[in-house]
Amino acid sequence: MTELHTLAEQLAAEHDLPDKALHALIAGRNAEIQRYLAQRAEALRQKIYGNRIYIRGLIEFTNHCKNDCYYCGIRRSNGKAQRYRLTRADILACCEEGYRLGFRTFVLQGGEDPYFTDERLTDIVRAIRAGFPDCAITLSVGERSVQSYRALFQAGADRYLLRHETATKAHYDRLHPPAMDFERRMDCLRQLRRIGYQTGCGFMVGSPGQTDEHLVRELRFLKDFQPHMVGIGPFLPHADTPFRDQPGGTAELTLYLLSLIRLLLPEVLLPATTALGTAAGDGRERGIRAGANVVMPNLSPLSVRQKYMLYDKKIFTGEESAQCVACLAKRMASVGCEIAVSRGDSLIRTQHNDFY
Ligand code: SAH
Repeated sequence: MTELHTLAEQLAAEHDLPDKALHALIAGRNAEIQRYLAQRAEALRQKIYGNRIYIRGLIEFTNHCKNDCYYCGIRRSNGKAQRYRLTRADILACCEEGYRLGFRTFVLQGGEDPYFTDERLTDIVRAIRAGFPDCAITLSVGERSVQSYRALFQAGADRYLLRHETATKAHYDRLHPPAMDFERRMDCLRQLRRIGYQTGCGFMVGSPGQTDEHLVRELRFLKDFQPHMVGIGPFLPHADTPFRDQPGGTAELTLYLLSLIRLLLPEVLLPATTALGTAAGDGRERGIRAGANVVMPNLSPLSVRQKYMLYDKKIFTGEESAQCVACLAKRMASVGCEIAVSRGDSLIRTQHNDFY
């Protein structure tokens, strides 16, 4: 046994490690230790969730955005993006189709679009809540006021995804313009939890300037914050952004981190994301084998799908689409899993810690 194996063993047994040891695992990673960690993470996923993979229907309902994140293809300054907005009726039609296909969670994701005032968005959430009482509603619409988060929760939203993008302030400032604030984003996450949302955070893997030290801080933040869900995926450059020439993050490192996150937070809901599926054709299956237990196929109408381009080459026509649940089921079966027709709620009971 090498020293890294001993550390991996300890992580699998105790679900935590000192920062120095996490750093050693990240900096010293190699194919063998990656396999070893993935086996442990997959076994843990199996123990907690069995072979059932939760599916979420992703509805990308607007690509208008007032923010200007340096990495993102739908940033305000990208004049080449063709902007669109789905109507309330469009969104309900997506849910209708999703329900028929077996989805019991709808994720409404979009840019930070001022058109969707609290009044408009709560109206949409209420309509989905009334029409699909046995489904979970997840929102992923960025930073809003506490009152807004509260109103949306009261209207029937259950979950909220807000990636923190990086747990290091200086690195956050490298990825975002000065108008965006690290503390404010972290504060949003704390507020969301306090209101009662099942809360998801997450970060991009291999974003410009990211170091192994940053990754240790990501893992420490996750362990401290104890989110219900963690979304990670490789950073992938978009040609019409300031980061067009930056190298992308790799599927390998993303898979490695998925395993580490499963072992740190055994019950966490962990998606194998679209970005991972874009970076590697079999990325989602490999994500499941590395410890992930959620996939989020696209339910947006085909006519808008290519316009929600966060990064180049985003997959959008093939088997990642919700319409191809049968292909997805086959892919999941190839790694010994099956798709669950259920809300797939978090097993994590809300605990009170310093972050509340
Ligand atoms: N406006 C919402 C949703 C953002 S899109 C919000 O602020 O939360 C969802 C996620 O896509 C982002 O949080 C970011 O982590 C990821 N993303 C954006 N651009 C990307 C890129 N170029 N490569 C990989 N992931 C990207």
